Amino acid sequence: MAFIIGVVGAGQMGSGIAYVCALNGFKVELQDISSEQLEKSLATIESNLKKQSKKGTISDEQVKEALGRINRVNKLDELKDASIIIEAATEKEDIKIDIFRKLDEVTSDEVILASNTSSISITKIAAATSRPSKVIGMHFMNPVPVMKLVEVIRGLATSDETYQFVVELAKKLGKEPVLSKDYAGFIVNRILIPMINEAIFTYYEGIGTIEDIDKAMKLGTNQPMGPFTLADFIGLDTVLYILEILYNEFKDPKYRPCPLLYKMVSAGYFGRKSGKGFYNYE
Ligand code: NAD
Repeated sequence: MAFIIGVVGAGQMGSGIAYVCALNGFKVELQDISSEQLEKSLATIESNLKKQSKKGTISDEQVKEALGRINRVNKLDELKDASIIIEAATEKEDIKIDIFRKLDEVTSDEVILASNTSSISITKIAAATSRPSKVIGMHFMNPVPVMKLVEVIRGLATSDETYQFVVELAKKLGKEPVLSKDYAGFIVNRILIPMINEAIFTYYEGIGTIEDIDKAMKLGTNQPMGPFTLADFIGLDTVLYILEILYNEFKDPKYRPCPLLYKMVSAGYFGRKSGKGFYNYE
């Protein structure tokens, strides 16, 4: 039987994951509850593949082949023939638990169920299934086609076999895997989000201007963009949400969100997506 990768959720991340899988030769079944979103996703994948071929990094033939490998489906049952499923649906615990319960019912026992969650415990998701040893985190970065990293998160019950399989798959997708234990933030957000919070405190306490703090971190630590530019990209609501998860899981005051961040989020200043964050995009 052909090796098929099931992808649940055709939003920003699911579309990127489907793109990378198809371009690397895998058949993909892309599922979303919204038909409109599936259509949008396919249109985005096609336009991004064409952009890449215009740049000359892939051929027109590769574009055609990759598009031919992606099949859209509306229901989770239609993923029953997948060899592995990567879930990238909305970041809500009840939605993910429901999806994993259903996937556990419709797929055979040996199928690996991976989640791209940024913050929900893999151990908890795994406990909703009858195969916790086959459940794992596969945390791609945004935008998936560009970013090289995949954090592989082992839940308490994830087996060595499942882990090895996912590491090999990540490499076949052209990514560099790193291993993380299942604690809030994993590796990247555990370090990155407190750094952004500290930058906000640095501004809040009047130590530097937004522009100077960004400039200092760019030129002084060789980061490609400063913390405020990055926070506006990520979305200030998302930054706050992750900080709250770190704060709640570890009960450590070092994760206390800066009062200014609360204020900006309650004003609807979410960054680029709302037209205003630390910078103005209107
Ligand atoms: P998104 O809102 O763009 O997409 C989520 C998709 O899930 C939507 O198309 C929605 O219709 C679909 N969906 C909702 N409920 C569903 C269900 N029951 N079954 C199938 N599909 C369903 O979100 P996103 O940014 O793509 O994030 C998806 C996941 O990836 C989240 O877990 C998020 O934490 C994680 N993630 C996001 C980023 C990022 O930068 N956006 C980075 C890494 C990981």
